[in-house]
Amino acid sequence: MKDRSLLMIPGPIEFEPDVLSAIGAPTTSHVAPDFIDAFGRALETMRKVWLSPNGQPFVVAGSGTLAMELAGANLTEPGDRALVLSTGVFGDRFEDLLTRHGARVTVLKAELGETLDLNQIEDALRSDSYKLLTVTHVDTSTAVRMPVREIGKLASRYGVLSVVDGVCSVAGEEIRQEEWGLDVVLTASQKAIGVPPGLALLVASPRAMEAFTSRKEPVRSYYADWAKWLPIMRAYEDRRPSYFGTPAVNLVWGLDTSLHRIASEGMSDRFARHDLLARAFRAGIEALGLGFVAKADRARANTLTACRYPLDVDGAKLLREIAREGVIVAGGLHPDIKAEYFRVGHMGSICQGDILTTLGAIEMGLRRVGYKVEVGRGVAAALASASDGVV
Ligand code: PMP
Repeated sequence: MKDRSLLMIPGPIEFEPDVLSAIGAPTTSHVAPDFIDAFGRALETMRKVWLSPNGQPFVVAGSGTLAMELAGANLTEPGDRALVLSTGVFGDRFEDLLTRHGARVTVLKAELGETLDLNQIEDALRSDSYKLLTVTHVDTSTAVRMPVREIGKLASRYGVLSVVDGVCSVAGEEIRQEEWGLDVVLTASQKAIGVPPGLALLVASPRAMEAFTSRKEPVRSYYADWAKWLPIMRAYEDRRPSYFGTPAVNLVWGLDTSLHRIASEGMSDRFARHDLLARAFRAGIEALGLGFVAKADRARANTLTACRYPLDVDGAKLLREIAREGVIVAGGLHPDIKAEYFRVGHMGSICQGDILTTLGAIEMGLRRVGYKVEVGRGVAAALASASDGVV
């Protein structure tokens, strides 16, 4: 029997053996020529993965929250107006963070499970002069996906910087940073990027870098200040030694490996794979008679699904039974409905086998807690969905 379970939570995800072995190699100096080369290559590959040929990439040791802080600390000055679009817990986190950095924040909060209406966003942009807006592409607490392409367009039209929290979307959901006019797209290593937790990653547009260089006041965070990190990123790309804070050397080796894998798949193919498998998973969940937190089909993410427990099913017990089947899924996160749903991550190197195994484990778990379901129903629906168009 295998002694490890399939990890299907929305981050950390399952990592590829080549990434893990890159991380497990003996630690090099942060100024060793081969490490400088790997770091430089990783920065160059980020532009391809973000589809941001003229963007400025940053890689800093820390989690996704640091990536949010890098954007917030460098792009806001006390008194600046910021518009936060919130579709869950992580949107609310941005409100807190920007307020801490002295911004005057207005929050547009979506109804639970819904996206925000574009007209409502445009009304807000028209009625006040904001310096930036933030949007959580996929809020991991609700699995609601926001239309960042349209939001990027709106922000550009009103001269507002757009900051996309892509922690649960970059390298899984379609994002074309430059084409869509997005100013900062940020993420963390442990999700669709496919590297264990510990790296904050972002790419800033030329417009965002100009906004940073024309600041009147210095950045109030010492560690998050782009003025400290920009020369370091440039030095690695120029293949020169440099130092500000010791980089997470082993993780950067893993990042170089994983980004190479992502770019080799090709971004359009990668987005299409996530879309196909997410559809198959949702078809399986629906066939089992379970509902979703995200209400409209177009608002349901491709990187994770938030599934409602059926009535009369004890959620904690069901998750234990799914784990007994060798699959780990995550409980609810949104405080208003925490006990009513569970979350399944399906991003990164996810394949059809993972989706079918997970649906099989959910089905077995449901049966064990007394929920009546026809054998193989979820798996059959997922297969039918995935093979749509295959003759
Ligand atoms: N934003 C989103 C959408 C997230 O899902 C998360 C983490 N789950 C974060 C931000 C924060 O990232 P971290 O936990 O790595 O600090």
